Amino acid sequence: MGSVERIREVARRVARFAREGHKLVVVPSAMAGETNRLLGLARELNPDASPRELDVIASTGEQVSIGLLAVALQQLGLKSRSYTGFQVKILTDDAYTKARILSIDDANIRRDLAEGNVVVVAGFQGIDANGNITTLGRGGSDTTGVALAAALKADECQIYTDVDGVYTTDPRIVPDARRLATITFEEMLELASLGSKVLQIRSVEFAGKYKVKLRVLSSFTDVNSTDMGTLITFEEEDMEQAIISGIAFNRDEAKISVLGVPDKPGIAFAILNPVAEANIDVDMIIQNASIEGLTDFSFTVHRNEYRRAMEILQSKVQPAIGAKGIHGDDRIAKVSLVGIGMRTHAGIASKMFGALAREGVNIQMISTSEIKTSVVVDEKYMELAVRVLHRTFELDKEPAKETLKP
Ligand code: ASP
Ligand code: MG
Repeated sequence: MGSVERIREVARRVARFAREGHKLVVVPSAMAGETNRLLGLARELNPDASPRELDVIASTGEQVSIGLLAVALQQLGLKSRSYTGFQVKILTDDAYTKARILSIDDANIRRDLAEGNVVVVAGFQGIDANGNITTLGRGGSDTTGVALAAALKADECQIYTDVDGVYTTDPRIVPDARRLATITFEEMLELASLGSKVLQIRSVEFAGKYKVKLRVLSSFTDVNSTDMGTLITFEEEDMEQAIISGIAFNRDEAKISVLGVPDKPGIAFAILNPVAEANIDVDMIIQNASIEGLTDFSFTVHRNEYRRAMEILQSKVQPAIGAKGIHGDDRIAKVSLVGIGMRTHAGIASKMFGALAREGVNIQMISTSEIKTSVVVDEKYMELAVRVLHRTFELDKEPAKETLKP
């Protein structure tokens, strides 16, 4: 929705679907760059602008979009009505700037659809129980779309974005990254939480919870394009699946090690509780086996919270537990391999470590879950690590179709 011409294009695409007989609810986000511009204005006036007012300001970007799209649709001869989040109403909690949707009153939408309208609903916004305007966090229009699809039991939720699907990794780093025709919802959830920025993670969670069929497509293809983008599937329906689907990476984290702590009950709590009380999220956690009663304890936090976490550890934790030292590093990156095939295939992690070793990339931390293996490496080796892993697992090639379940 970058310009009047782009809005016209969106309207033409919507009109095409409407003429095919579909009932449509369209959820635009703000015009390109608009949310940043609005938040920038607020920050210029007050660097500590209150979250409530930030939401009042940021939500207007989408209000402009829905009205513009509705008139563009009307210009094409379609019936269309627009709604802000609060008009719908999309009820959220009161966590300004990152509110969660609690419920959607779909009465207006259903009535308008029945009367032949294309309904246009503002993304990214809602209203709390006290009538305050809220927003759902950056990229929140994705979540509005999925939540509406769930509420309306839509056949499919299509997210048109600035990429044309989900790739094995970021093509800016690996030029031969391949677009996936399908990916399971669980893999998508891992990729989104590990730093791949295609969809807002909450939208993926929502799709999983309510089994919404979700498709990622490009908003830049021709209006009549039949390109199908990437479909996010549920495992049961996707029997033929590559072992590894993708590689995610991010530079958003920092590593903190508490050295030489006495290995006794309550130590992990003594280290992490003050961090949690300061509302700092912890991601990876590692504790070493102890030697002569002493152990090292490492974890990662978001880079923005690194200074604050270090402060807490140095001023409160170290003296309280008698640790030998606190060591921090905010020049790290996390690289993760994701694939549901890890459940059924042994040796993926060791193949990963071997490939990194051959390139001389030192692994500082490792964490695994059922369908992912993540490593922390020096930030300067991040791109190298991603490329090497992409090659090692041959993600540039169509996977030899393999049935995971008998
Ligand atoms: N306009 C909002 C943002 O930029 C929501 C969205 O685009 O999904 O974060
Ligand atoms: Mg977006």
